[in-house]
Amino acid sequence: SYDEYYVKSVIRTLPDWPEPGVMFRDITPLFKDPKALRMISDAFIQRYMDSEMTHIACIDARGFLIASIMAYQLQKPLVLVRKKGKLPGKTVHQEYQLEYGTSAVEMQVDSVSAGDKVLVFDDLIATGGTILAACTLIKTLGANVIECAALIDLPDLQGSTRIQDTGIPVYTLLAYE
Ligand code: 5GP
Repeated sequence: SYDEYYVKSVIRTLPDWPEPGVMFRDITPLFKDPKALRMISDAFIQRYMDSEMTHIACIDARGFLIASIMAYQLQKPLVLVRKKGKLPGKTVHQEYQLEYGTSAVEMQVDSVSAGDKVLVFDDLIATGGTILAACTLIKTLGANVIECAALIDLPDLQGSTRIQDTGIPVYTLLAYE
């Protein structure tokens, strides 16, 4: 069963990466630890087992890893939200603010459509900019976002509050102050 203390012991904190002053929460050791990976995957699978969700939209690139386990077990379609320039065919893109400069995410136009009830998944919510841009794309394509989920929330950066302020519920397993 889910053991938050164990999962947190597997996540590694790297000070001053990718730049000075940032405490980076490195989740790559989770993927080397089958017990921890199963714990977090099962926690999300349980959360969405009986939900009305029709599609999982996952964010480039760490979001892909856990979301694909969920999609397999829940037998739901998995659609990709990628950094700009990675997806072939007809796409829509959305820019968003970073601390310095801008970034953009992209989806294929046939990823989701009107009436779909989409769960948006990423590994971590910091300012919320990435997930909010993904939500904008999904709405542009006519679908509804029923919830945003992430393994980790950084509540001090108020991203999850920003997302909730738009009326979209947020579900996270762990928080780091
Ligand atoms: P936001 O757009 O909410 O400010 O930043 C979230 C995005 O940046 C996510 O896609 C996430 O992968 C990445 N990110 C930002 N900080 C961290 C961190 O400390 N650890 C990890 N694993 N990802 C981070």
